[in-house]
Amino acid sequence: MYDAIVVGCGPVGALTANLLGARGVRTLVVERSTGPHGQPRAFSCDDEALRIYQQAGLRREVERDTHPPRRAEYVNARGRVFAEIALDEIDFGLGARPLHFFDQPTLEAALRRGLDRFPHVTLRTGTGLTGLTRHEDHVTVTLDGGEEVDARYVLGADGARSATRAAAGITLAGTSHPEPWLAVSGVVEPGATRVGTTRFVCDWRRPAFVSPGALGTHRMEFMLLDGEDPEAMTDPATVRRLITPYVDPDRFTTTRAVVYTFHHLIADRWRDGRVLLLGDAAHQMPPFLGQGLCSGLRDAANLTWRLAQVLRGDADEALLDGYEAERRPHTEEMALTSVRLGRVFLVRNRFGAAVRDAVLRAVQTVPRVRRAIRHFEFKPRPALPGRRGPVGSMFPQPDVAVGGTRVPLDDVLGAEFAVVGPGVDTATAIGWRGPVARFVRVVPPGTEAPADITTVEDVDGALTAWFAEHGTDVVVLRPDRFVHATEVGSRPLALSR
Ligand SMILES: Cc1cc2nc3c(=O)[nH]c(=O)nc-3n(C[C@H](O)[C@H](O)[C@H](O)COP(=O)(O)OP(=O)(O)OC[C@H]3O[C@@H](n4cnc5c(N)ncnc54)[C@H](O)[C@@H]3O)c2cc1C
Repeated sequence: MYDAIVVGCGPVGALTANLLGARGVRTLVVERSTGPHGQPRAFSCDDEALRIYQQAGLRREVERDTHPPRRAEYVNARGRVFAEIALDEIDFGLGARPLHFFDQPTLEAALRRGLDRFPHVTLRTGTGLTGLTRHEDHVTVTLDGGEEVDARYVLGADGARSATRAAAGITLAGTSHPEPWLAVSGVVEPGATRVGTTRFVCDWRRPAFVSPGALGTHRMEFMLLDGEDPEAMTDPATVRRLITPYVDPDRFTTTRAVVYTFHHLIADRWRDGRVLLLGDAAHQMPPFLGQGLCSGLRDAANLTWRLAQVLRGDADEALLDGYEAERRPHTEEMALTSVRLGRVFLVRNRFGAAVRDAVLRAVQTVPRVRRAIRHFEFKPRPALPGRRGPVGSMFPQPDVAVGGTRVPLDDVLGAEFAVVGPGVDTATAIGWRGPVARFVRVVPPGTEAPADITTVEDVDGALTAWFAEHGTDVVVLRPDRFVHATEVGSRPLALSR
């Protein structure tokens, strides 16, 4: 019997299996398609996503093939910039640039290669889930052709039309956005004329998004107008006409042109006993904030450590309830922000667009508002519901030095809990009554410290400042790097939700 079956090896399923693999969970991944990896759909990811790839030990491999844009511009019908996000001025403290563009097939290939590291993780392609039978202590999954496989838990990461969700009797609620979009992906020859910046074209006649992407790719998305036939829109002549204002069509090779309709949907529950949903199987959102996939990656980071604790017998099954309790509100907030951004972006009449441009220009004369837009402060920050002070916030990830080498903090913390701070010493480790954890002492640069436990030098002072701000010298971090506690007491660490 497997500990877990992950249904679907899209980006969320593949990452989930990597995170389970890193925690020693015996996992089977089943993927219906036989092709090597998916089509380019998701295009951007944020600093949190990179931090999650890092937890899976795959950050360098993923980041190598990304492109971090410097600016994102909102332009009106006349091509005038009326708002700008200065991405190269933003540092949310998580150890990565706030936005990266990637090529989804390249990303998925890297995530699948990551699975080869784990002998206890098996990927089977060309077969998919068709049904589920629940038992008290396990679930039987029926695959194509009637084969049955048992696992203690089933994680449905099988996308928007999730068969896992249907088999578990879970329904979706929400709204669909009736406006279909044409998404064109392709490769631009070096030196060819093209719009070189990331641009939301808020043209009331036809809203569009254009941007250079990773690995010489270019993405252009165009809203379909009333009455336009989706099939006719993917015709090469139509694609050529639409892309011509943004890229030299004679030096652009289209790799994919496809029409999508976006949804704003959420599953009524994300857990039904031993069956759990992640990614698009649990929620779908409009793309204007580039957070659909990122939200699925956060699901994987939140759920996998919980499941590992339960499977090891270190926590009660109730720990799994915390997954939806924490992830649902954040996902809903992201989706709503995306919908609101869409309203600004998608104004569809000349008068409304003129008012929008004028209002946005006027409010940005207030320095605080201008800064909030320019520095992307409207993006929901990572925080758990009921956050109290630092508890429930995401811990920063500055660089630290270990043995004279500068590394991002998480590289030192590993895949489990971590107890970190200037006050951490061998007594902390000996007195610890909690789950498997790594103990890391933080010292100022150049400090001599005993070699009894891992010691990191706080090279830029960011950790020292954090501990001073929060009036503590120790912090307990969950494996997903949220702050669990700011003290280590003599009682066992509670892992109830
Ligand atoms: C045009 C477009 C642009 C987007 N841009 C962004 C963006 O910039 N940033 C962002 O974060 N998100 C973006 N998104 C959203 C993003 O693409 C999705 O949220 C993401 O792909 C979801 O990943 P997933 O792994 O949950 O599902 P999927 O990618 O759909 O993967 C599901 C996998 O499950 C497999 N499967 C299905 N049924 C079964 C079964 N019964 N058994 C076994 N396997 C099965 C499928 O073959 C597939 O491989 C965009 C979406 C679109 C359409």
